[in-house]
Amino acid sequence: MPTLPMPIDHTAIRAEFPLFEVRAGGRSLVFLDSAASTQQPSRVIETVAEYQRHQHANIHRAVYQLSQGATRRYEEARATVARFINAAEPAECLFTSGTTGSINLVAAAWGRANLQPGDEIILSILEHHSNIVPWQLAAEASGAQIKVIPINDAGELDLDAYRRLLSPRTRMVAVNHVSNALGTINPVQEIIAEAHAAGALALIDGAQWVAHGRTDVQALDADFYAFSGHKLYAPTGIGVLYGKRALLESMPPYQGGGDMIERVSFAGTTYAGLPSRFEAGTPNISGAIGLGAAIDWLSALDLEQVGVYEQALLAYATDRIAPIPGVEIKGRAAHKSGVISFVVNDPPMASLDVGTQLDLRGISVRTGHHCCQPLMERLGVSSTARASLALYNSRDDVDRLADALAEILEQNRHRAAARAGRLQADQDDLAPRLQVPDATMSAAPGQDMNLGAGMHLNQVAGAEPAYPAAAADSPQAAADAIAEDFALLPDWPTRHDYLIELGERLPPMPLALKTDANLVRGCQSTVYLAARRKPGSKAVIECLADSDAAIVRGLIALLQRICSGQSAESVLAFDVDGFFSRIGLDANLSLSRRNGLEAMVQRLKALARDT
Ligand code: PMP
Repeated sequence: MPTLPMPIDHTAIRAEFPLFEVRAGGRSLVFLDSAASTQQPSRVIETVAEYQRHQHANIHRAVYQLSQGATRRYEEARATVARFINAAEPAECLFTSGTTGSINLVAAAWGRANLQPGDEIILSILEHHSNIVPWQLAAEASGAQIKVIPINDAGELDLDAYRRLLSPRTRMVAVNHVSNALGTINPVQEIIAEAHAAGALALIDGAQWVAHGRTDVQALDADFYAFSGHKLYAPTGIGVLYGKRALLESMPPYQGGGDMIERVSFAGTTYAGLPSRFEAGTPNISGAIGLGAAIDWLSALDLEQVGVYEQALLAYATDRIAPIPGVEIKGRAAHKSGVISFVVNDPPMASLDVGTQLDLRGISVRTGHHCCQPLMERLGVSSTARASLALYNSRDDVDRLADALAEILEQNRHRAAARAGRLQADQDDLAPRLQVPDATMSAAPGQDMNLGAGMHLNQVAGAEPAYPAAAADSPQAAADAIAEDFALLPDWPTRHDYLIELGERLPPMPLALKTDANLVRGCQSTVYLAARRKPGSKAVIECLADSDAAIVRGLIALLQRICSGQSAESVLAFDVDGFFSRIGLDANLSLSRRNGLEAMVQRLKALARDT
């Protein structure tokens, strides 16, 4: 077991984060989603609060002292950023809304002035959507083409393939410094040098790097470097675009408005110099000041030591998580930052369920595609669970994650075994009745779903899908009964367990119904919903649905009880949203799950309207 190096006093650092003072059941939160957003130390929170309380005024435009003070603080923050990334001068550091804003600025403004039909932009398959979509927009507008650097199975960029992609047509190479989904640290210095040798520029998405090691844009020779404050212990809504002065000066303005002009007249407008030219309108002043405070806070630590500490923690976490039966870590690059992305394969468990179960134990991890859908496709998964580390995490956090994961997966194995038992019993029961002597199970080609309870029935040739009949006299009566059951359950964890149980008993949905047309978009998990008019009846609708996520199967079970077998009119009249908030689900469901639920409800209502 590696011992963690001491120059980083983890306990003292953690004590600076008010979030960890909050204790539930005697234990503080285990926050392992810093790749999405880091928590903020008191120093940042208080600096921003003090600014808001006593120092706020709009900047750059007024003669009074309060405004001049705010302007000074804003510009000091810019100077702090410049020192932090070793820019040649503060004017090369533009404040933006974040990495996404920074990349959009370059793709739109530089792209508009420089891209032509036949030009090429090189991205990598590791990119976050915010380093893909802006370039797609720029390519569409200009007729340029996008080429993609592949990865090997460890999640490392294939540099030979990169070299082959480079050509005299390459205008821009845009890659991340660190992959948010896998943690791969890319050899950006080499990538930039090769881009330059081919006559192209290079933009580096540094969102996942800047908080974890030294950044020197001049040593890297980056043309553009983008990052976000909220992954650097600063507030949201503030970020930076570094650009070399000559390049920024050669670019047309991005957005027009106040502050970015020199003189406006209807005969023609002239633009301000750097950095104002690219900061139209009132900027996020408090955010910039907060970012400055966060950089000061982090810079007081030795960033080399920060890297050493986090690497040791990553090694410890990998050693603890990799051996857990059923877990497969995605991304095993030789150079990785503190990210562990994993899937549960044996038996399968949806990332969404892993995340929900960890949350019930006070552990926050991210689940989903991490805004990296092309990468997920390359990995052959729709999502992963991702634990990401920051300075305030310790071996204790990793132990709690690993112990909880082992327990959750053990439960998952029991559930899967129980399901397999039921499956066998049902098969024994069904086969003679259907005169199919050897009814066997086989997964649909390419299907990576954890098939729900009773899925075996789907495989039996000729079996009629059993759409559930009405559970009560009306949707309202069914909803009242569910609400009564929920009222007996004291808290979210027990309600969650109850939902899982309901999901386990969901009527089976035949594979034949799991078609593209029945796929519900907008859900984090895979969801199929088949709705129909009840045969022989014009106005009664019925539905069958399934998901790879146990919690979603539970929600489906509720929806089915309320709607299936009911008249179209009563389904349309029923306030599903109101019901979910009545039983307290809206407070405990993530937005993506609520959106998924909403998508299911809309499907049902659309059918009800058609009847
Ligand atoms: N790039 C990477 C590598 C990221 O991890 C993220 C955030 N997850 C972004 C870009 C987008 O950052 P923001 O949402 O702060 O604009």
